[in-house]
Amino acid sequence: MKIEILGSHNTETDTARLPCLLVNDVISLDAGGLTGSLSLERQQKIKAVLLTHHHFDHTRDLIMLGANDSVPPSTVDVYGLRDTLEVVYLYLLDGKMYKDYTSWPSVEAPRLRLKPIAPLQQFIIGGCIVMPVPVSHSAPSVGYQVTSENGRSIFYAGDTGSGLSGCWERINPDILFIEVTGLNCMGETMSKLRHLTPQMLVDELLQFQQMKGHIPRVIATHIPVAHEEELRDELALAGKQLEMELEVAYEGLTIEL
Ligand SMILES: [Zn+2]
Ligand SMILES: [Zn+2]
Repeated sequence: MKIEILGSHNTETDTARLPCLLVNDVISLDAGGLTGSLSLERQQKIKAVLLTHHHFDHTRDLIMLGANDSVPPSTVDVYGLRDTLEVVYLYLLDGKMYKDYTSWPSVEAPRLRLKPIAPLQQFIIGGCIVMPVPVSHSAPSVGYQVTSENGRSIFYAGDTGSGLSGCWERINPDILFIEVTGLNCMGETMSKLRHLTPQMLVDELLQFQQMKGHIPRVIATHIPVAHEEELRDELALAGKQLEMELEVAYEGLTIEL
């Protein structure tokens, strides 16, 4: 199983891209920093995009993925909760902002095909078993556990606040990719916005440990560009509390699992 971090921040600069992970070259988890990270040839290999939720930082590049057609034309399946796909269609792909790639170049063979999923209902893409698991964000959201043919698995949480014990019950990943969006001093605001701080992540991981007897490898994503340095310091201290390293994702990180 190959995992590439295409975007690991919650905003964009010349060096930071929006949330996006690529699995085995063919599955994109979210579509924030997708097209700007890949050559046309690599974009044309993508078979599916799994959306965690509808927020713009996670869905923006669907438009350019639709525009970068291949020869012969091919269709990319876009999976998400029904609520997620409704908003994405209504505000991004409805044909007003740009082309409606769910019916372009033809209704029979569009560039993007929206495929609603249901929480906890597994499906298979490119030999991987995918399980969507609800998380706790300000919009309807799921994280995805992706298990490859060799039995190794990751869980990509997307955006989430605290209260993940129900999620932890359902998953058993080798690597947990989880957001950390705010500094510890922003705890109150992060709670309201349904995001995590390093201390909130520690509390969630301790619950995981209580339930499962261990904590998997943890890689923080959705890093705020303006506070990255302080956040790295706080994550290092948080890791000491847990007697492990809390890694920080970065664009270009590639993991073979
Ligand atoms: Zn969000
Ligand atoms: Zn986000």
